[in-house]
Amino acid sequence: MEYEKLYNENLLEKINKSKLNALEGLDTDSTEERIDIEEIAEKLGLTIVKENMAGESGKLEGNVIHIDSSESVARQRFTIGHEIGHYLLGQDDASRHDEGEGYTPSQRKQERLANAYAAQLLMPVNLVVNTIKNIIDHLSLKATEISEKDFDKIVSESANRLQVSEPAFRYRVKNLQVFSE
Ligand SMILES: [Zn+2]
Repeated sequence: MEYEKLYNENLLEKINKSKLNALEGLDTDSTEERIDIEEIAEKLGLTIVKENMAGESGKLEGNVIHIDSSESVARQRFTIGHEIGHYLLGQDDASRHDEGEGYTPSQRKQERLANAYAAQLLMPVNLVVNTIKNIIDHLSLKATEISEKDFDKIVSESANRLQVSEPAFRYRVKNLQVFSE
């Protein structure tokens, strides 16, 4: 599916303001419906450098995103999304480390915004909903009778397919109120 159809207008506007039509013609991998976050970074003119970083998940320096290669792929992907978020927020010098350590209130706000960008980039609403629908079908579940245990299975399988962490997917589903009646 084309990114231009997956992302909402606000996000596309933000991306296009930075690089005109950066995502035009770009598709998610047709077999694996996950977002190619590294390709998006590249289209924005950002270079990703994976290295061993002491105590930091990632860092944006100018047009370079540094990523801690010792963390899980899902976490690295989220960090790339987070640093793209800083870039789209017009910051070119930001690092990501564990929450709550040494952030001022205004930095904390920027961190929250960068995380929101990461979630939107990696888990656009259509992709989340389609993935959940596929898995419900795949597991032969009834959408109206999802038990707590089924839900855990759906989260785990979805996170795996989209290559995001389970906590990140769970938070996104809650945020989007996918299952609320
Ligand atoms: Zn950050």
